[in-house]
Amino acid sequence: MPNDKDYNKAQVLIVGAGPAGLATAIQLKAIKPQINVCVIEKSADLGNHNLSGAVLEPQPLHTLLDSAVPGWQDTDTAKELLAKKVSKDNIMFFTKKFAFGISPIIKLTAIFHLGFGQMLHKGDYIVSISELTKWLGRIAKDLGTEVITGFAAQDIILDDDGVTKAPEGWPYNVGSKNGEACWGTHTCHMGVVKNLKALAEIPPSKISDGVMDIINKAAEYMLNHHVYKQSHNLDAVAKQEWVQFGFPLFWKIDALEVLDILTKIGFKDDRMKDAIDLIVSKQNENGRWILEKSFNGRMQANIEQKGKESKWITLFALRVLKRFYS
Ligand SMILES: Cc1cc2nc3c(=O)[nH]c(=O)nc-3n(C[C@H](O)[C@H](O)[C@H](O)COP(=O)(O)OP(=O)(O)OC[C@H]3O[C@@H](n4cnc5c(N)ncnc54)[C@H](O)[C@@H]3O)c2cc1C
Repeated sequence: MPNDKDYNKAQVLIVGAGPAGLATAIQLKAIKPQINVCVIEKSADLGNHNLSGAVLEPQPLHTLLDSAVPGWQDTDTAKELLAKKVSKDNIMFFTKKFAFGISPIIKLTAIFHLGFGQMLHKGDYIVSISELTKWLGRIAKDLGTEVITGFAAQDIILDDDGVTKAPEGWPYNVGSKNGEACWGTHTCHMGVVKNLKALAEIPPSKISDGVMDIINKAAEYMLNHHVYKQSHNLDAVAKQEWVQFGFPLFWKIDALEVLDILTKIGFKDDRMKDAIDLIVSKQNENGRWILEKSFNGRMQANIEQKGKESKWITLFALRVLKRFYS
């Protein structure tokens, strides 16, 4: 273990010099120039791991840079990087023999804020993400951020009162190298929940010891988080959307789904109580629950209405409460 003198300390450490990490650094330095910000990047040079082509909406770039770097648009690099703009949208639908222009339909969907509207790019910049990353890196450095490349984050030390490491073993050691479906150093909550959801479908008589071991580990992981909180700060909701109930959820999760899975397998644990109370608190005067988040507009057909009573959420909530209290 290196001693304290071996460390460089930073008030804010950002892992990953992609557009998100660098934008965070730029924004932080713009708001609080005195703050000490360091970005570490595992690739040998900026932009090396950011290789996709991209159409880039101008507005977020303006929001980020207009106040942080006055006059940024007049620099040679900006002019060169943002030289190409999408001048026209021409979206085609192909059959074996024919091609139809469907841009007018897509434009119509955009007026109604439907998902397909995102296919329109007129006015967006055509940039290389790699070049964009290099440029944002230079801006971050100019603003005083320390950017260190060739430096991969290995581990998270959760608490600063003593060194608390994440427990060993699945699901705590997951990451892209270990074949988990999500990326990053922190365990992917959604990945754990969806694993557990699939395993919960196995009939009890067919659950092997190995599967039971995984079920117990995944459940213990969720229980350590009191279903929807930060394990190292149980006063804080880990992600706001996990306390908003939705249907269908696809890859997303919420506290209701986690409880539905845990109670289906038969778990009843005091650490579920906060989430149970959350469900109870959301029941309305008609004894029903509201659909709080929705994929409507992004599916073939809409399912129920956001902000209105939901038969699905009501079914899941009543099912969970019945199982927990029976
Ligand atoms: C094929 C493809 C096409 C795309 N087209 C578009 C498009 O047209 N328009 C658009 O807006 N977006 C597009 N995207 C999405 C866009 O690339 C991403 O949204 C964007 O790159 C995300 O930025 P980020 O900073 O969150 O993550 P990333 O760009 O992935 O950056 C993360 C950085 O963190 C580093 N890193 C990871 N782990 C560690 C670690 N442990 N220690 C240190 N460093 C680490 C990585 O090396 C990387 O540099 C496309 C993506 C793909 C794959």
